[in-house]
Amino acid sequence: MPHSERSLFFLQRLLLILMALVMFAPGSTIANPSSDPQLWLPTPLGQPWRVIQGYGCGTHDDWDFYSLDLVAAHGASAGAAVYAAAAGSILAWVAPSGTLILDHGNGFYTMYTHLASAVSMQQGQHVPRGTQVGTVGDHGAPGLPHLHFTAFRAAGPWGQGQRQSVPLQFAEGYHLPDIGGCNQYAGLELMSGNIPVAGPKYQVYIPYIQPGVDVPQTTSVPSLGTPPQRRWREAMPLC
Ligand SMILES: [Zn+2]
Repeated sequence: MPHSERSLFFLQRLLLILMALVMFAPGSTIANPSSDPQLWLPTPLGQPWRVIQGYGCGTHDDWDFYSLDLVAAHGASAGAAVYAAAAGSILAWVAPSGTLILDHGNGFYTMYTHLASAVSMQQGQHVPRGTQVGTVGDHGAPGLPHLHFTAFRAAGPWGQGQRQSVPLQFAEGYHLPDIGGCNQYAGLELMSGNIPVAGPKYQVYIPYIQPGVDVPQTTSVPSLGTPPQRRWREAMPLC
């Protein structure tokens, strides 16, 4: 066939492949199957924050399995504002680890850890979605300021051993189901926004990093320096 027809043919094939990728990409639908509140990223508006430790193993290996440790992709994390992921009320402030817990009703909670400070520690105070609730610090993770974020359900009061974290999805368009493996979503960059957008926005995605396995430099943490290779357990003394 003539060159122009051949080009058109390949262009059509390329479009079909791209459409298939979009249709079947994980997270292309943002469904909230239960009555859980819709969550928004707790990080500053319009700034990319990077997952430096994701779901499973490491220090996220218990009830808090579906937790994310986040740092600013550019600039300092310490002192950055932390926002309520959904409307709720203040349930607890645990000073030693800088942990703030919001109660969203129906046994659903969000937890923000390693905060330098909380805007309010007054139990029961109503917090609208998007309200600043604290600032990022390194309480409980000395020398590595980051935000540990967990959403969980609890059958009884917090701290009674009946907690279970839930896989996260954010209104900005990030759907982060359990995909198996260790340190899920490490390296992913997430950007807070006010307008929900459709589709996944994975930028860097390294799904199956096992303990002790060397990871590429792209997953190293800027604040720890960037040697050519690091073992993630050593590189991430996180909580
Ligand atoms: Zn953590």
